[in-house]
Amino acid sequence: MKKLVLLGGGYGNMRVLLRLLPNQLPEDVSITLIDKVPYHCLKTEYYALAAGTISDHHIRVSFPEHPRLSVKYGEVTKVSTDEKLVYLKDDEAVSYDDLIIGLGCEDKYHNVPGANEFTYSIQSIEKSRATYHTLNNLPAKSVVGIVGAGLSGVELASELRESRPDLNIKLFDRGKVILSAFPERLSKYVQGWFEEHGVEIVNNANITKVEPNIVYNHDDPILCDAIVWTAGIQPVGIVRDMEVEKDPSGRVVLSKYHSLPNDDHVYVVGDCASLPHAPSAQLAEGQAEQIVQVLMKRWNNEELPEELPQIKVKGVLGSLGKKQGFGLLNGRGVTGRVARLLKSGILWMYKYHNG
Ligand SMILES: Cc1cc2nc3c(=O)[nH]c(=O)nc-3n(C[C@H](O)[C@H](O)[C@H](O)COP(=O)(O)OP(=O)(O)OC[C@H]3O[C@@H](n4cnc5c(N)ncnc54)[C@H](O)[C@@H]3O)c2cc1C
Repeated sequence: MKKLVLLGGGYGNMRVLLRLLPNQLPEDVSITLIDKVPYHCLKTEYYALAAGTISDHHIRVSFPEHPRLSVKYGEVTKVSTDEKLVYLKDDEAVSYDDLIIGLGCEDKYHNVPGANEFTYSIQSIEKSRATYHTLNNLPAKSVVGIVGAGLSGVELASELRESRPDLNIKLFDRGKVILSAFPERLSKYVQGWFEEHGVEIVNNANITKVEPNIVYNHDDPILCDAIVWTAGIQPVGIVRDMEVEKDPSGRVVLSKYHSLPNDDHVYVVGDCASLPHAPSAQLAEGQAEQIVQVLMKRWNNEELPEELPQIKVKGVLGSLGKKQGFGLLNGRGVTGRVARLLKSGILWMYKYHNG
């Protein structure tokens, strides 16, 4: 029996399971999935969990069941490609023939002193729950600072506004205008939503230091009752610690077949992989589709295609609370209720296909 081990049951490896199970998996292959959390978590909804507008249960999906799938709950601490072993926290070692590393990412603090210690996070389910507790227990009129106005910062700020109209929310944005990488019309639309809903956007921000309940913008200390960091991501520490080639963002450089350049049996999927697009769930899924095709061919001793097609990413959709949204779909801007409905529809479809 060949053993395929999947590290992390996130968007990438869930797509691998969806494609291999129930009947594509060759008879002589078994799968072991290892995750520290006993269900698949819908990370794209962590902003809503933290804001308190959805329940924890709403964003969990059970892992699939299959006679040749075993699910192991534990924290991976190290991957040794020399030994073909994965180490877990209790020192247990799991062997593999083929490995897909899909452990996702965590916050990147850009060496800002105090950021790691004194800010809350929405990068893992555990941290999002802690953020939920703090934000939702704040007394009226408290100040919440959100550092970083990318997609997740914008979604958190708007969702929190709807959840807690009594809070003062400051969204610290590095750019001259919010979402400066988006077309001007979208960026103005989002800016307008925040103005209308009383969220303060602090443009040209540069957070240089964080202390308990103080965020320093350039050198100005700004008092906050809670600070949430949404200003950058990097692959998880286990992947950062692997002695393999990485790109400048710390993501693992791969062969054109998504495996390590010197090891055809180790694949990296999703946020840990160096790919030509910004990390996203849909990118992780698109890459997983290709990894499955490569695995099937290698298992069947078939020749691999000279090139794999470019992974297609359809666009980006962001929410502004429960009723409005914005996004870019196939290069076209979309705003308002339609954008929000599309986003909800994608979530519904995802749960339908994976639940
Ligand atoms: C607020 C927010 C909104 C987002 N919105 C969108 C969006 O609208 N569209 C989009 O495409 N993308 C969005 N993303 C990005 C998307 O969530 C990620 O790109 C995607 O989750 C990456 O998938 P992955 O398979 O690489 O890892 P993940 O889905 O992060 O899964 C990683 C898995 O590894 C497990 N794990 C981690 N470390 C260990 C360990 N040491 N031991 C065992 N298990 C471990 C985790 O429990 C988790 O199950 C959003 C992200 C955030 C935070």
